[in-house]
Amino acid sequence: MNAPLISLQGLSKEFHGKNVVELVDLTIKAGEFYGILGPSGCGKTTLLRLIAGLEQPSSGQIIIDGLSMNSVPANRRPVNTVFQSYAIFPHMSVEENIGYGLKLKGIVPEKIKERVGAILDIVDLSGLERRRPNELSGGQLQRVALARALIMQPKVVLLDEPLAALDAKLREIMKYELVKIQKDVGITFIMVTHDQQEALSMMDKIAVMNEGKIQQVDQPKVLYEKPKNSFVANFIGSANCLMGTVTKVEKDRTYVMLTDINQEIISTANNNFRVKDSVQAIIRPEKMKLQDINIADDNKENVNCVRGSLLEIIYHGGVSTFRIGITDKNAEPLVISQLNDAQQTKAKYRIGSNVKVCWRVDAATLIPVHL
Ligand code: ADP
Ligand code: MG
Repeated sequence: MNAPLISLQGLSKEFHGKNVVELVDLTIKAGEFYGILGPSGCGKTTLLRLIAGLEQPSSGQIIIDGLSMNSVPANRRPVNTVFQSYAIFPHMSVEENIGYGLKLKGIVPEKIKERVGAILDIVDLSGLERRRPNELSGGQLQRVALARALIMQPKVVLLDEPLAALDAKLREIMKYELVKIQKDVGITFIMVTHDQQEALSMMDKIAVMNEGKIQQVDQPKVLYEKPKNSFVANFIGSANCLMGTVTKVEKDRTYVMLTDINQEIISTANNNFRVKDSVQAIIRPEKMKLQDINIADDNKENVNCVRGSLLEIIYHGGVSTFRIGITDKNAEPLVISQLNDAQQTKAKYRIGSNVKVCWRVDAATLIPVHL
């Protein structure tokens, strides 16, 4: 599980004089479910195609299992791809589609049948071997495409937005199915997605990409809790980003004067800051609390409080978001989300009422800003 299986070193790909993949360095371990997450057009598919050997790098190295792949053609790489379109042959049955790669390799029919049977079990398609693709649902087609990759027993399966074509409900189910199958077979999966929820709930590790460059590589929880820059903070979930200047640094406390709100906040976030450093305080909406303006400031728990007025309440079902305008200042409204379990929140606060927004010392992440 811990040996590096794939190593990308300074990998770049240029189209028409522009790098769409730029100096990518990544290490992927054997057995990992690895995610590449980024907005549409940031170079995810190109990166996957480079690993598969369907594109040649402009510079850099791809090493799989200790061997440089640069001069190894696509069909000789220990890699199989599940394409975004699935690319299933319409005139072949499920069984023929899945066994096709083995047939090309000259494997005898009995052996192919045996291996197709085993894979059908894994992807939960047993009994459908004779069906044609046009007799299958979107989720079943997806399983055929996955089975076709798995049957080749590659070291790595590459998946390009495999759930994008499914409706929301099916996508939820397939999400967990894919993770289960990956853990069962133990093959390294590299999956590309633009959907942050998908990435957070499925992946062991995620590389966040923007404009061809890797922004941060971490486990889902670390990406969300400790984003390294404001792109990551805003792409993964939503975030309140407040500019400020460091005013005091103690062993486990950093004090920041917020520029737009003109108020000092205290944070446990420690990035070896020095006084006068410019920083951005990133605070997740669910880590801020709405409080009645008349309740005395709590100096123990929710140390940081700013005052404002309630601009808007947006109901989302399980949670509501509140937009708070900061009193008499030009600052962006703060966004807070609260669970709709207690019922009282919505009733208690009316649009236009003065409120306090409070958060704990450990709620903010501080990001250095280079002005
Ligand atoms: P993503 O999968 O993240 O949406 P892609 O890797 O498909 O992004 O594309 C990244 C950029 O590279 C886009 O601007 C796209 O237009 C461009 N691109 C992709 N493939 C080619 C190609 N074969 N020739 C020219 N430009 C391409
Ligand atoms: Mg793509």
